[in-house]
Amino acid sequence: MGRRAKMVEKIKKLMEIHDRIRNIGICAHIDHGKTTLSDNLLAGAGMISKELAGEQLALDFDEEEAARGITIYAANVSMVHEYEGKEYLINLIDTPGHVDFGGDVTRAMRAIDGTIVVVCAVEGVMPQTETVLRQALKEKVKPVLFINKVDRLINELKLTPEELMNRFTKIINDVNKLILKMAPEEFRDKWIVNVTDGSVAFGSAYYNWAISVPFMKKKGVSFKDIIKYCEEDRQRELAEKAPLHEVILDMVIKHLPDPPTAQKYRIPNIWKGDLNSEIGKAMVNCDPDGPLAGIVTKIIMDKHAGAVAACRLFSGRVKQGDELYLVGIKQKARAQQVAIFMGAERIQVQSVSAGNICAISGLKEASAGETICKPDCIIDPPFESITHVSEPVITVA
Ligand code: GDP
Repeated sequence: MGRRAKMVEKIKKLMEIHDRIRNIGICAHIDHGKTTLSDNLLAGAGMISKELAGEQLALDFDEEEAARGITIYAANVSMVHEYEGKEYLINLIDTPGHVDFGGDVTRAMRAIDGTIVVVCAVEGVMPQTETVLRQALKEKVKPVLFINKVDRLINELKLTPEELMNRFTKIINDVNKLILKMAPEEFRDKWIVNVTDGSVAFGSAYYNWAISVPFMKKKGVSFKDIIKYCEEDRQRELAEKAPLHEVILDMVIKHLPDPPTAQKYRIPNIWKGDLNSEIGKAMVNCDPDGPLAGIVTKIIMDKHAGAVAACRLFSGRVKQGDELYLVGIKQKARAQQVAIFMGAERIQVQSVSAGNICAISGLKEASAGETICKPDCIIDPPFESITHVSEPVITVA
């Protein structure tokens, strides 16, 4: 079996094992490295060619996607990563960082259970870091921290080891202050990030290396080594010794929740219906055998398939050919094709179950934020009433 076929099989298997899924986003102030990090994570996990990742050019799975860039236009990209002998499927959903896109940010946050907060080591926590982190915490999305552009502290600012540590401590304290202020009460103490347990990582998305305390212990790489590699212009070697994707994806798998764990506390927060109803229980339990419930996070325009809706499923299952119901606009629509993501490519499958991010074509009238279910089990109320100013306002009678 070829590499591509093997990856398809792997993803199809993993999407049915709910504790092996992580649905995550990246929160960052503009220019702090969100795009560089996502592309290099994909490349590191073997989902795009390594050489071209930095230039955001090519996907070795799908030539067409290459021309459009990778993470910028994708609604979702997925990666497979092995941690402690088990493989995991990581869905990275595009969360727009700009404050003007408040509605889009909220919708994307609705689809994820955890987030990597990226903070540039040179600039520190900035206003948009605070805005997007606040939105994540409001949606009960758990954070981990990546302090990026550490190469610049060493090579441009020429900080001493002590100054480096002070800079990191300040950023961690600033992020934790925000978490303590804005996290859901029950999680405040549990969600603060911590160097020792590995919920904080440091590195350079651009030069493709990262480090965390658990990784240092496991691989015997020290901070002194990091400084030496940077000063001696040997960051390529460092990227081999302490690969960005390994450190960051290990952190994601260890510290961010799987869908069944997250939906227990997230559903009561994002859905105002009766939690003891059949659909309420199915969503809280992430039950693939319950009634279908999902939310559209983004519409992607595809040359061949037309409008494709990226959806997070909270319960039930979507099968190819299913008749669906769009709650906001009160219309039925047929799921012509159902797909999951591999890298930024969509792979057609027979069905996708709760806890996953899928792509459905055929929902012509759907827009981001729309609630999807089956006509015989309508979700009432929907996840949100669709009245965002950035789009034509649809009045729900
Ligand atoms: P975004 O706006 O958050 O998506 O940020 P980008 O990923 O586009 O990065 C903004 C700029 O910072 C680009 O010029 C990147 O090449 C650069 N950059 C990103 N990460 C690093 C890093 O770790 N080190 C250095 N030196 N530059 C970086």
